Amino acid sequence: MNFQNKVVLVTGSSRGIGRSIAVKFAKEGANVIINYRSNENEAKAITEIISSYNNNCMCIKADVSKEQDVKKMIDTIIEKYGHIDILVNNAGIAIDTDFQNRHVKDWQETLNTNLIGVFLTSKYAGKYMLENKYGKIINISSTNGIDTLYPYSIDYDASKAGIINLTKNLAIQFAPYVNVNAVAPGWVDTGMNDELSKSYLKAEMEKTLLKRFAEPEEIADVILFLASDKARYIDGEIIRVDGGIKIG
Ligand code: NAD
Repeated sequence: MNFQNKVVLVTGSSRGIGRSIAVKFAKEGANVIINYRSNENEAKAITEIISSYNNNCMCIKADVSKEQDVKKMIDTIIEKYGHIDILVNNAGIAIDTDFQNRHVKDWQETLNTNLIGVFLTSKYAGKYMLENKYGKIINISSTNGIDTLYPYSIDYDASKAGIINLTKNLAIQFAPYVNVNAVAPGWVDTGMNDELSKSYLKAEMEKTLLKRFAEPEEIADVILFLASDKARYIDGEIIRVDGGIKIG
């Protein structure tokens, strides 16, 4: 896949799935923007790595749940490159606690990042994509937003279900120039699941047909496909990437 000269913003890309997506795009010639919220060292390290593939990459600190941060981030990108072609809404959080200990502030933090963050980046980047009559937006939902519910993260599950609906609305909003799709991963081997018990994770792994969790690169591969010209007739779609967890 060739993403030469394409400008790609990957939110929350200093680690995990976002980091993999950024590396793959940079290897394919894209100008990648690493976005991070707080871990400057991690973000600078990955920006240095991707700059060895394409030295027109950059790194921007912005909290996707804050409108001013998002607006400033998109303005900075437009100032430097003049356009934004691909937006991957990857940033996300999960706060795991049982039902009785879950409070409104947990819901607000989760929805603000996972759902409203997607709205904000899409609103500000989508405007330039429409002007340019070209764009791809790929959101990261989860099988938790469809049918593999987890009682310790009901707000996370609701935010990921919200992304599915938002993806379809954004596809309508930005038609016919911008394709908007989502990927719904099952379990992926990243730091996001570090707090969960080993026995729970082992039982979850057994539920997949492939008997393993995904590597971040396996999610990134699908995202690059959706951002490529090969997927030009796919719009408003949600693609599960879950190792067969639904039927396993
Ligand atoms: P991760 O925790 O390694 O990465 C998430 C990244 O998002 C981090 O770099 C974090 O700093 C960043 N982030 C969080 N809040 C932010 C904010 N307000 N502004 C900017 N950046 C912010 O987790 P991951 O597994 O790589 O997750 C990536 C995406 O994939 C998330 O949306 C997650 O919900 C989704 N997902 C993960 C799994 C899994 O099993 N790991 C499964 C399904 C979906």
